[in-house]
Amino acid sequence: MDAKGDFAMPVINENYLKLPGSYLFAEISKRVTDFKQDHPDANVIRLGIGDVTRALPSVVIDGLHNAVDEMAREETFRGYGPEQGYSFLIQKIIEFDYKPLGITLDEDEVFVSDGSKSDVGNIQEIFGLNNKVAITDPVYPVYLDTNVMAGRTGELQGDGRFAGVCYLTCNAENGFIPALPQEKVDIIYLCYPNNPSGTTLSKAELKKWVDYARQNGAVILYDAAYEAYIQEPGIPHSIYEIEGAKEVAVEFRTFSKNAGFTGTRCAFTVVPKTVVAKTGKGEDCPLNKLWNRRQTTKFNGVPYIVQRGAEAVYTASGQKQIKALINYYMTNAKTIREGLKSVGLEVFGGVNAPYIWLKTPQGMDSWSFFDKLLTEAYIVGTPGSGFGPAGQGYFRLTAFGSQESTQEAIERIKTRLSL
Ligand SMILES: *Cc1c(COP(=O)(O)O)cnc(C)c1O
Repeated sequence: MDAKGDFAMPVINENYLKLPGSYLFAEISKRVTDFKQDHPDANVIRLGIGDVTRALPSVVIDGLHNAVDEMAREETFRGYGPEQGYSFLIQKIIEFDYKPLGITLDEDEVFVSDGSKSDVGNIQEIFGLNNKVAITDPVYPVYLDTNVMAGRTGELQGDGRFAGVCYLTCNAENGFIPALPQEKVDIIYLCYPNNPSGTTLSKAELKKWVDYARQNGAVILYDAAYEAYIQEPGIPHSIYEIEGAKEVAVEFRTFSKNAGFTGTRCAFTVVPKTVVAKTGKGEDCPLNKLWNRRQTTKFNGVPYIVQRGAEAVYTASGQKQIKALINYYMTNAKTIREGLKSVGLEVFGGVNAPYIWLKTPQGMDSWSFFDKLLTEAYIVGTPGSGFGPAGQGYFRLTAFGSQESTQEAIERIKTRLSL
């Protein structure tokens, strides 16, 4: 039969059509390209990207090199490894990242993966479609979009919110501390230190969420991608520092932001065996069992070479080198934060996170401020409205640039931006 025949064609997953095009970064790049065409000599500084820029620590490079050499000899060559990750890495993760916090984990509660983006995106698969999902607003878009794709939401509405999703507004008025939901929710995504706002929750604030989850039978999906950026005492590095969290929380961590692995790809997810959800018949089912099934079925593990690179982070020199890397970026965060404050802008974040979230002056909308910053100071940032309707009137700058260009950017903001 020919292509024009009347055969029923495969039908797409229509949930994908609910998603608007990835308008944010396409629109940023279009506006920057247009500006550069009109101002070919302008030296544009990008403080919008959420990607690291410094090279991998040398200990990691050594770990990678050694593993490459092992792959060159039959005696040390590795083929498929355990889907959940090699024991040598999982043991180090538990010993270095959790034990000092007083948290004990079994090896089979840690799943090594190729990234937290995959894990926070895939985890929703092990939950039924009728669960009510809560996200903060503004939010890292992956949590929301993957639930839209799965069909766990209705359509996008005129107010910029998807029907059927519980939005937890975070803004200057509530100090970026989301209020507990008024309705019963089942799955709660939290990200602290937060992307995009750079803000954190204290132990007492996080405890309210753990208590809510325990009392209401909810699960918390806790994204701790920026844990290594925490500078102040009293801010939880892991949700398992909170009593009872091992009954209700899954935690996501990555080597992307602490060790520069955004292009090398290695992360891990902690699923304690004590976290359960209900079967249709009302029986408890451990999420660990389902996540293990999901990963072993759909994932064949992180490259041996990469896991050896990640393992190198857990040495004395590795810990020292990643600390230096974080200090480098946090010096930028301070430069940005103090520079913006000195010109009278209202700023949030940037103390325990590489993100600075500023309130646009005179109630400008996020895109108008984008244009102003680009045309007056030749600086590119990210409009807050791209992270959710509550991000309107805010703007994100990141500390991931070089110290030289970050200082130059702030100098321009001080001298060229009309406020
Ligand atoms: C960068 C980032 C991640 C990490 O993603 P990877 O896939 O591990 O590189 C996860 N969550 C948030 C909020 C991030 O900003």
